[in-house]
Amino acid sequence: MAEPVTVTFLGGLGQIGRNCAAIETQGRIVVLDCGQMFGGDDLPGVDAVLPDLSYLFDNADRIDACIATHAHEDHIGALPYLLSHVAMPVYGSPFTLGLVDHKLAERGLRKQADLRPVHDGDRMMVGPLDCEFLPVTHSIPSGNITAIHSSQGLILHSSDFKLDLTPVDGRRTDLSRIGSLAHDPGIRLLLADSTNADSPGASVSEREVGRTLGSLVRDQQGRRVIVAAFASHVHRLQQLADIAVETGRVLVTVGLSMRRNVKLARDLGILKVADYAVRDIDDIDELEPERTLVVCTGSQGEFRAALTQMALGTSRWLKLDANDTVIFSSHPIPGNEAAVATVRNGLARHGVRVFHSGTVNVHTSGHGKRQELQTLHSVARPEWFVPVHGEYAHLVAHQELALAMGMEPERVVLCEDGDQIRLSDDGIEHLGSVGGGHLYVDGTVGDLGGTVLSERRILGDDGFVTVVVHVDSEQGEILAGPDVISRGWVEHPALADHEEAVADAVEKQLRNALRDPDHDLDRLTQIVRRAAGQTVNDRTRRRPMIVPVVREG
Ligand SMILES: [Zn+2]
Ligand SMILES: [Zn+2]
Repeated sequence: MAEPVTVTFLGGLGQIGRNCAAIETQGRIVVLDCGQMFGGDDLPGVDAVLPDLSYLFDNADRIDACIATHAHEDHIGALPYLLSHVAMPVYGSPFTLGLVDHKLAERGLRKQADLRPVHDGDRMMVGPLDCEFLPVTHSIPSGNITAIHSSQGLILHSSDFKLDLTPVDGRRTDLSRIGSLAHDPGIRLLLADSTNADSPGASVSEREVGRTLGSLVRDQQGRRVIVAAFASHVHRLQQLADIAVETGRVLVTVGLSMRRNVKLARDLGILKVADYAVRDIDDIDELEPERTLVVCTGSQGEFRAALTQMALGTSRWLKLDANDTVIFSSHPIPGNEAAVATVRNGLARHGVRVFHSGTVNVHTSGHGKRQELQTLHSVARPEWFVPVHGEYAHLVAHQELALAMGMEPERVVLCEDGDQIRLSDDGIEHLGSVGGGHLYVDGTVGDLGGTVLSERRILGDDGFVTVVVHVDSEQGEILAGPDVISRGWVEHPALADHEEAVADAVEKQLRNALRDPDHDLDRLTQIVRRAAGQTVNDRTRRRPMIVPVVREG
């Protein structure tokens, strides 16, 4: 009986973001990605959501390494947190590790960094796992498919992928190697990206987007052009740099992440642009506006980003007007639509000409659609399959796709965050769940839970009403108050009247209660809460948080 392999999915299955898995054999663990997710409107004040890493912390002495498949935040965002608790080497492509290095440096963790670059086609031992790293196309350069040659056969992790047959850097997904692995030794288990499993057809090549952007920029003669894109989408930046040169413009980068990524990508030879053709925004005054192509962050309407500041008219560098064209070279990520619309409206008020992916094909997904997933499945022909990286509905769509391609239902295993499976000679066995919860980041990590978040939602929706009263419970007397203080409940001048009514109701109920010899502070507090809540609700039909404070003396 060959040594089994256990896979624990710590994040990314059921929601997009915070991808993390632990792969273990012979008692040793390798972590595959460690990402974060951004907080949404339903998580007020939350900066980021990390996977619950307690399984890793509990087994820290058994962890040998981490593999970072590519440098998107949902794959490397939680690495600083993991590495600040558990030291381990991180394997990834030089570009991926370059961005990991920046993240660690930002948090003063560079000393802990043991970064080990891998190159396309490399095969090496990572802890107990014999790993082969294959190139894959995605919306960031230098991503890797990981082929793990294990005691239980080959495990293929697709990472985030699309099958771009004409990628900007010519580095295609290595389908032929996958095909040859499928032939010998055969692919025992496939873990594959499900993000676009419910989108028909195939994604457009990045090069096609470049052609559209090129003709759009050529049409903007005599105008300044500003393109908002992801700072990590180096191939998009490459195409914009080429377009700039072609149209007699200079590429101007705005924002720290843009400047940093451009430098890293140029240093590594991934971004090829002549020195004269790229400038920093600090030089903008030396350049004629119609001879510039400005690339900036903010394509998602992020509040602090450069484009948002331009739309608000508060940018340090650029005041936009009717001579400017702005191109949103991205789709709004679900949840960001309203923020993006606000930025677009702001730009429209300045008379700016705006193009976006809803009107022109200036963006393409980095994740393969159904035809691409079908191609991967038909090349890989896995014995077992677990859909990963997706909302629950995407995982189910990917499951159905595999079944439609002839896989046996019992060989397609649907897992969620926290699930642990074991691959042995007998196949896959579901071992149960190790948790899979959320770890919220708001300044600090992990000290925020459901209670605080639900309080924040109530405060955000209806405000609060505090009632402070001092009693002498021995004598059964009210010594001071009730004083009512509220915020976010009712506007002035009606407020005073409502607050007085709350105070009157509380006083009346409290006097009754104090006559009862059986009272204690807890009971009095409850009475205050109930009397205030009832009055607030009767008078305003609102449900602010009621904060009763009953003090002795
Ligand atoms: Zn990605
Ligand atoms: Zn991802």
